[in-house]
Formats: sequence, structure tokens, C-alpha cells
Amino acid sequence: MKYAEPTTESGGAADRRSGGHHRVAIIGAGFAGLGMAIRCQQAGIGDWILLEAADDVGGTWRDNTYPNCQCDVPSNLYSFSFALKSDWSRSFGWAEEIHDYLRECTDEFGLRDRIRFGSRVTCAEWDSEAGRWELRCADGWSGTADVVISGHGPLSAPSIPDIPGLAEFAGPVFHSAEWDHDVDLAGKRVAVVGTGASSVQIVPGIQPEVGELLVFQRTPPWVVPRPDRPVSERRKRLYRRFPALQRVVRSAIYWARELLVVPMVHRPSLLSLGEAQAKAHLARQVRDPDLRAKLTPDYSMGCKRVLLSNDYYPAVAAPNTRLVTEGIDKVGRNSVLTEDGTEHPVDVIVLATGFHVTDHPMGDCVRGRDGRTLNEHWRDGQSAYLGTAVSGFPNLFSIIGPNTGLGHTSMIVMMEAQFTYILGALAHMRRSGVTTLEVRPEVQAAYNDEIQDRLAGTVWSSGCASWYLDANGRNTTLWPDFTFRFTRRLSEFDPESYSG
Ligand code: NAP
Repeated sequence: MKYAEPTTESGGAADRRSGGHHRVAIIGAGFAGLGMAIRCQQAGIGDWILLEAADDVGGTWRDNTYPNCQCDVPSNLYSFSFALKSDWSRSFGWAEEIHDYLRECTDEFGLRDRIRFGSRVTCAEWDSEAGRWELRCADGWSGTADVVISGHGPLSAPSIPDIPGLAEFAGPVFHSAEWDHDVDLAGKRVAVVGTGASSVQIVPGIQPEVGELLVFQRTPPWVVPRPDRPVSERRKRLYRRFPALQRVVRSAIYWARELLVVPMVHRPSLLSLGEAQAKAHLARQVRDPDLRAKLTPDYSMGCKRVLLSNDYYPAVAAPNTRLVTEGIDKVGRNSVLTEDGTEHPVDVIVLATGFHVTDHPMGDCVRGRDGRTLNEHWRDGQSAYLGTAVSGFPNLFSIIGPNTGLGHTSMIVMMEAQFTYILGALAHMRRSGVTTLEVRPEVQAAYNDEIQDRLAGTVWSSGCASWYLDANGRNTTLWPDFTFRFTRRLSEFDPESYSG
């Protein structure tokens, strides 16, 4: 890895692993929280603490340990711009490799002993009189901070479907993000519920070893080939020796991916080219016309996340796999029953059923100026200014907040834009002596009107159900534009948009 040199300055807190007061409290040690901590160090903000619920860094790349877990964004885009990783093993990295990268960043930048592990934040309350946040953690830790930066990801709280009988199932049941490695799947009858990004990796990952694999599909995904190959030792050496070369390649991949915004946002009709590619991929890999028909989506490509896989269709077409398209009615002691009355005996159930995205539980524990929680503020749908600041919640910044998600490229691009913006806010507070920053409600409302207007004609609003949409059918998750526009917009903090 090639790291930029951090410039640290000692902070005010004597012992950062106990309570007390901190200039900045960061929540979550995934890409967002770690990157923010590194950038704080580099900016000379010494007094920060990072609260992490688990006993290790890594966020989603620590939690998702299911078989065959691999990133669906090219490796070259999947490291911080200030800590390029030159030795990716493949053009699409394995989850373990990404997790290792985050551990290495933690150590190289000297973050580890400043992270409080095992501290799940259960309460963050704004104290208007003191002008600071009060934080409490499940392990008994409590402290205060001038500024809270939330780095918890939107894809971190598993969504467990409300299927009657599921709790009474006699065998193991686990979610894709909480894989139970103690369960030996060899020779077992395994049900996988869901056919999203996690499932298309799990299914080929376990199909060769299980006795029978039942894939419960509610909606078929669009699947295109994954242009994945090993990275040669020569290329790794070149990247290590000439980081500028890797930056050129990274830049070329970045711009190629940005082109995908054109069909998704501006010209959905162009997506028919991608649909033709996906259908050809399906036709090449699945001979049986009935199975092919079941696997063919009937909604526009891109409306849900487009999946990349070379081994999903072959695994579904394997003799020991059955694709079940009838809806699940209930779960029995040793079976899954579908709405057509069929009973499917199974030993293990894997729930690849996604995450609480637009109703994240973290929103219940953050209380703002008027004592209401984030989720209470967001009863009609999540919204923020620049996906970062929320009116009514002074000195709170979210990384990967509402409408920052992407369907085409690396989320690290968005996070880095937010790091810069938040550091700008902190610098403004220091320079001006302002102690409280709260985005003006009219600024947030105007910004969200603009975002919703832009989303109206996009492929994500073309009629399918997806986790991009909330219970009211509003897309409160995706950024509907090129990422360089987000980066440009967040390149300088705009104090006039805030009161304080
Ligand atoms: P997901 O995309 O939300 O997929 C959930 C699947 O479960 C869908 O097929 C859904 O069907 C199905 N489902 C949900 N409830 C169900 C029920 N009650 N009965 C039957 N089926 C049900 O979740 P995910 O696959 O975990 O992926 C979530 C996101 O994580 C991805 O979109 C991606 O952003 C990220 N991810 C990334 C990678 C990577 O490689 N970088 C890997 C995995 C995940 P419907 O489609 O009908 O709703």
C-alpha cells in the first residue's frame, strides 16, 4: 500500500478509551468511520474517538463472511485515494482481502488504540444548553462530544422476513450477513431465500457441497458477466513501483463507470443494450427454456441493482438445485411451504433477504434539538442536506446518509467527498468560533426537492420494488447524478446554508 503521511497533533483528551469529552466522536469502524478518522488525523484534529460495536474494524466487510463473498466494484476503485492498495489479487477483490486492507489502514495510520471496540452506541442526545452531544454505549461507556460523525452503513442491519413459522424452524436459520460457520452444509438440504447481490454469490459458493439447494426467488435479478481475472505479479510490481500508473488505470475505470450514469439517469432507453447482453449471458449459461423463462426479469435493467456473476446461472441450473418461484407461505418445523401448497423439506435456511436501509435502527437512538429521534423526524421519509447534515440535529454529520447511494461505482468516492466537506465544517467552526452548526430547514428542503425532481425520470423510478425506495415509494437512497458532481458540490463547506 502507498500511504499519504498522516500529520497528527495531540488532542485534549487524556484517555480516549474512557468517557469524558471529545471534540469529535465517530461512530463505526468501516470504510466511512476509518476514512474519516484518518482524514481527521491528517487535518490535525487530534481529539477524536471512534466507537465501534464489534471487536474488529471492517464494517460490512467484517460482517459478510458468507462463502464466495466478493466485491462487485472493481478493486482499483476500492481503496481510499490516500491509501492505494497496489496488490489486489483479482480485478474484483475478495471480502477477506478488503477486510485485511481496512485492518492494514487501521494499523498503518495508528488508529487501533484510539478505537473503542465493543461499544455499541445506544443513545446519542443533543444537549442544547451545553451545546454538545451526550453519548451512551451498551458496554456502559458514556461521554460527550462537540461533533458526532456517523459512519454506520445503510447496509448493516439485517432484514429478517416476517414469514410465519420461521422462529419455530427446527434447523439452523441465519442471515447472509451473520453466516454461521459452525453449520456444516455438506450433503444438507439448504434453502436460500432471496436472489439479490448476496444470494448470487452464496448460491454458487455452496451449491457444489450441499445435497440439495432450493433457491426461493421472488423477483429475478438482471445478471451480467463479471469481467474478473487475477492480477498478475508483474502488474502488482508495476503498481507498487509506479503508483502514478495505478492512478491512471483507476482514473480510466472511474470514468468508464461514470458513463453508466447516462442510461440510468438520463436515457433509460439505452439500458436495452445491457438487457440484450444479460439475456445473451443467460441463454449461454442456461439451456432449459422453462428455467430461463423463470430467470428472466420483467422490469427495466438497473431498476434494482444489476448483478455481476459468471457462476450464478450455472449453479442454479445444476442438477442438485431447484429454483422455486412460488411465494413462501410459511415455514414448518423441517420445511418451507409455498403458496401453491407444496411442502419443500429443508435442513437449513439462509436468509439472503437484504437490510433495513430506509428504516435503519440507528435512527431510533439519535435525538436532536427538539428531543425527537432521527426516525421520528423521518416519518415521511429520510432526507438530509448533501446526504450529510440534517436540520434539527446540530453538529451531527452522516457519512453515506440519504441519497448518497450508487448503482454504478464505488461508494468510497462519495465518502471521500463527505470527508472533505465535514473537515471544512470543522475548520469553519475553529476559524469563526461558531460552536453549533445546524443546516437551515429551507436549504435542506430545497436540496431534497431538487434531488427528487432529478430522480423522477430515472430507471430507479420505472416501477419495480427495490430497497432504493422507502415505504412511501420515495427514493431516499440514491444519488441521481455523476459522482464528480457530488464531489464538486461538497468540495467546500458552505456556512451560509447553516445557522449557528
Ligand atoms: P437485496 O438486494 O435487498 O436482496 C434481497 C433479496 O431477498 C431479494 O431478492 C428480495 O426479493 C428477497 N426477499 C426479501 N424478503 C423476502 C421474502 N419475505 N420472501 C422472499 N424473498 C424475499 O439484499 P442483498 O442481496 O443482501 O444485497 C443488498 C445490497 O448489498 C446490494 O444491493 C449491494 O448494494 C450490497 N451488496 C454488495 C455486494 C458486493 O459485492 N459489493 C455483495 C452483496 C451485497 P425482491 O427482489 O422481490 O424484493
